[in-house]
Amino acid sequence: MKKAILLLFLSLFFLIILPDQSHASANQSKIILDGQEVILPSDVQVTVMNKHVMIPIRVVAENLKFRVNWDQKSHLVKIQQNSKIISLHVDQREAKVAGKPVLLDIAPQILNKSVVVPIRFVSEQMGLSVSWDNKDKIVHLTSSTNNSAQTEDSTPNSENNEKVSLKHINEINFLNNQLVVSMDGKVTPIISHLKDPNRIVFDLPNTTFGDLSQPLDSGSMGKLDVSGQPHVSEVRYSLFSRDPDQVRIVIELKHANTIQVNHEFIGDQLVIDLNDTGDFESPIQEPLAGERGRKIVMIDPGHGGSDPGTTSISNKHEKDFNLALSLKVQELLLKEPEIEVWMTRDSDVYPTRTERVQLANKINADVFVSIHGNSVLESPQANGTETYYYQRSSSKELADAIHKRLIKAIGLKDRGVKDNSFQVIRETKMPAVLLEVGFLSNISDEKAMLSNTVQYKAAQAIVDGIKEYLSIR
Ligand SMILES: [Zn+2]
Repeated sequence: MKKAILLLFLSLFFLIILPDQSHASANQSKIILDGQEVILPSDVQVTVMNKHVMIPIRVVAENLKFRVNWDQKSHLVKIQQNSKIISLHVDQREAKVAGKPVLLDIAPQILNKSVVVPIRFVSEQMGLSVSWDNKDKIVHLTSSTNNSAQTEDSTPNSENNEKVSLKHINEINFLNNQLVVSMDGKVTPIISHLKDPNRIVFDLPNTTFGDLSQPLDSGSMGKLDVSGQPHVSEVRYSLFSRDPDQVRIVIELKHANTIQVNHEFIGDQLVIDLNDTGDFESPIQEPLAGERGRKIVMIDPGHGGSDPGTTSISNKHEKDFNLALSLKVQELLLKEPEIEVWMTRDSDVYPTRTERVQLANKINADVFVSIHGNSVLESPQANGTETYYYQRSSSKELADAIHKRLIKAIGLKDRGVKDNSFQVIRETKMPAVLLEVGFLSNISDEKAMLSNTVQYKAAQAIVDGIKEYLSIR
């Protein structure tokens, strides 16, 4: 009852105090959830529409560990909060909460490809306490579970226990081809090489920024001055993920040199040496695209990094399935002498869909295959394999070639080859397909999809389909 009064108060509060700024976007806005800043993807923001504060629903719901499902075709967002399902339609004021219709002040909208909903809906239907600091553009959200954890001393808080091992980074320097990170503990960096532009990425698990001597923009990212450094054009750092916290440092290279990376701890300093092997001719990864007349196949593991995709019935992230299967496809394609394989990602990172499309178009790939898992939370019986193409007959031909083999190889229900407007298959210029290999929300599909054996069968089917399409024996 108290809560209802509070919510009523908050609702009135928003109606009364918001200044008159229609459609003004709140740039550099922040969302603080239970005292922690939610890391917003760069194109996602809080906005004010007709005096209503609108927040990106997906990132908030996912930070609350709710399952979120986005159906591109019907523009429907589904959020599963424990046993309660909330369905929101873009451009429709009526939502459904636990099967009952609820009217929103303003319909959910798509803003920079993310769905924003009025903050009041979040407070009333998802049980969060909300407040909006209009001056500093900060949305404060407090989940009720967090409230009870604060008031009931006996509630064990396992999250806090996990955070005990969090290391703080206090200084980052780059000089003479050496990156020095001062921190209050030791972690093993995960190092990856990426290209376009060539860069070396250091992920430091279980780290956050301590009293950093360098400036941080909007509290979570910054750059070092590397002018005059011979091989490096930029060094930037950011709090790349939260819960678990992870700082990422990216060193962008001026040219495609072969750089050897060594790291060691000296006291509390992680020292990373970049050794230029002097081989200016050999690029970091593959040779120039399509060299020696090979066909270029681009594999796109859906989602990744901050975008987990859908959630499986046993709470696994779609992004991990997509990557696991895609890496098997890559492994098999690497054995094909007439094929050159490119990946839009080969680790848990999130290139935007636009970046994926741009890369495929830039290297002029011959085929593009995006790999996903499906999920419909409220109908766990839904199952089977779907293959999507967009309009072009060449894409349809590729879709048919892969789909028939996939159905045969993994034996899930045949849901057919379908035409749909997904960005990665619509905006790529080459034959492009998007595979929804199965339903992660279905128990038996999930079991198959998460099996290594089945993944290899699926990978082989995808490779065989691609080869058939490219007329490679
Ligand atoms: Zn997906």
